[in-house]
This record gives sequence, C-alpha cells and structure tokens, in this order.
Amino acid sequence: MRISYGQASDWVRAFAGAVADNKEYLTELDAAIGDADHGINMNRGMQAVLTKIDAGAQPDVGALLKTVGMTLVSTVGGAGGPLYGTLFLQMGTSAAGKAELSGEDWAAALAAGVTGVQNRGKAELGDKTMIDTLVPAVDALREALGEGAGLGDALARSAAAAETGMKATIPLVARKGRASYLGQRSANHQDPGATSSWLLIRAAAQTFAGSGAGHDAQ
Ligand code: ADP
Ligand code: MG
Repeated sequence: MRISYGQASDWVRAFAGAVADNKEYLTELDAAIGDADHGINMNRGMQAVLTKIDAGAQPDVGALLKTVGMTLVSTVGGAGGPLYGTLFLQMGTSAAGKAELSGEDWAAALAAGVTGVQNRGKAELGDKTMIDTLVPAVDALREALGEGAGLGDALARSAAAAETGMKATIPLVARKGRASYLGQRSANHQDPGATSSWLLIRAAAQTFAGSGAGHDAQ
C-alpha cells in the first residue's frame, strides 16, 4: 500500500507516454479554443523529463518530482508548462526526503501540487481549466481514503472524478487563459489542459493499482 520510488517514476513515465500518444488530440483541442500547441508543449516537456530521469536516479521521491517540475518549467512555454511545473515542484516539496509514499502522503502531495497551480494561475473551479479536473480528483481521493478505501479503490475513484470534471468543461465558458479571449465561443469544447490533467490522474490509477500498491491486504 505504499508508492515506491520506482512506482513514482513509472507514473511519470506513464504520463509521458500518454501525452505522446495523445499529442495530436491535445493539440486539436487547443486548436479549437487556443493556439494549437498544448500537445506539442506538453510532449516536448515530458520528453525532456524522460531524458533527465533516464540519466540517473534521484535521491528520493520528492527529489524526483522536483526534477520533473524544474524540467517542465525550463522546457515548456505558454501557460501549461509553468502550471504543470508548479504542480510537480509543489508535489516534490510535499514529498521531500521520502523514499516512498503512503496513500495519505500521495494525497497530500497531489493536494499541495493543485494548490500551487491555483496560487499561480488563480483559476477557480468552473473557469474551464485543468483545475476542473484536478480539484475533483483530489477531493475524491481524500474522501475515499477518509472512508478507509484501499489505495487502488481511492485512485480509481479519483480518476473517475477527474474524468467527470474534464467532461464538465465542455459547456463552460472559459474565464482563464487564452480560451477566455473567445468569450461565449469557448463553450462546447473540452478544455485541453483539463484533458492532459485527466491523463495525469488516470496514469496514477493505472500505475499504482497495477503494481501492488493498490491492493490493500487488510
Ligand atoms: P497556452 O494557453 O499558453 O498556449 P497551453 O496550450 O500549453 O498554453 O495550455 C493551455 C491550458 O492551460 C488550458 O487548456 C488550461 O487548462 C490551462 N490554463 C490556462 N490558464 C490557466 C490558469 N490561469 N490556471 C489554470 N490552468 C490554466
Ligand atoms: Mg496553447
């Protein structure tokens, strides 16, 4: 029921793989309400992350996540890169010095990352951004863990809430970021950042549930 360094790094790799597989899709979503670069931006950043983490192991999970964040900040332009950079940097600060994470540690790290994104981008729930995926994901995770669910179940509930939040961006009018310049015309399109954030949360559910961390042997 703990997330090891190897599993944390598998999660980062799984996210990089999902971004690469969905590069065109993310860019298409951004073409509709932005400037058609979200998939390209995120893929460039995550490929740089892979190069960095393949070069050598970091001392602990916190250091790994900080390295991911710093790499994204330094390689990705636009709004998405710095926001994802902040997410990973704040997760890394929360997990500083930890060789592995409990479910509670994971929830605390993710919550710290999402708070960092909100402090930086000032988006609220319903503004049609990645926050609409991430906040429900954290809330569902905490609720499930609070009810005594095993980590695998909690992560599955978190991913389901993330997907619902992502889809809920479709009818919304954007109030933050480039899409907000379109006003009403931003409605009826799924937000690209909310979509990449769903890939991130789904990757956690898939990676940690599939590697034994998800099975609570009580
Ligand atoms: P840019 O908009 O600079 O081209 P990207 O295309 O990489 O950057 O990322 C766009 C995504 O960033 C949006 O779909 C949205 O989810 C997210 N985003 C933009 N501004 C904010 C903000 N202030 N807070 C949170 N997320 C934001
Ligand atoms: Mg863009």
